[in-house]
Amino acid sequence: MDCIFCKIIHGDIPNYTVYEDDYALAFLDIHPLVKGHTVVIPKVHAKILLDLSNEIVCDFFVDVKHVMELVENVFHPDGFTVGWNHGEAGGQVVPHLHVHILPRWDNDGGGNIHSIINNPGELSVEDIAKLF
Ligand code: 5GP
Ligand code: ZN
Repeated sequence: MDCIFCKIIHGDIPNYTVYEDDYALAFLDIHPLVKGHTVVIPKVHAKILLDLSNEIVCDFFVDVKHVMELVENVFHPDGFTVGWNHGEAGGQVVPHLHVHILPRWDNDGGGNIHSIINNPGELSVEDIAKLF
């Protein structure tokens, strides 16, 4: 498979591993947005979260929590921004699910999730609710 993160899992591309078990590999992002920027990927190839079984999602997100604890213990940040880009429209570049763990510090100059987009469209929240 021509997937850069699968190649990292298989050891074909080197990485700085933070944590690894049967379900996930966590490694330092090659272009860190902040000190300690770490990505966590499932060991099985899946482009998006919806491609994973519930069982794998459970094991994977337990590992995401564990990696947050490891980063917390090393850097003692004031907080975290954690998330993933889902699909090209969501900003995903590497087509293998990866959760970004960004340690955050008070006054580090970064934004929060509200700074990603502000384009709510014409429908009211009440109308949107009816769609469900
Ligand atoms: P995306 O935009 O798909 O959510 O993020 C992909 C991330 O993977 C980027 O932050 C990029 O720096 C990182 N990345 C891409 N290729 C490599 C690589 O070969 N090694 C590592 N460690 N990170 C990579
Ligand atoms: Zn892959």
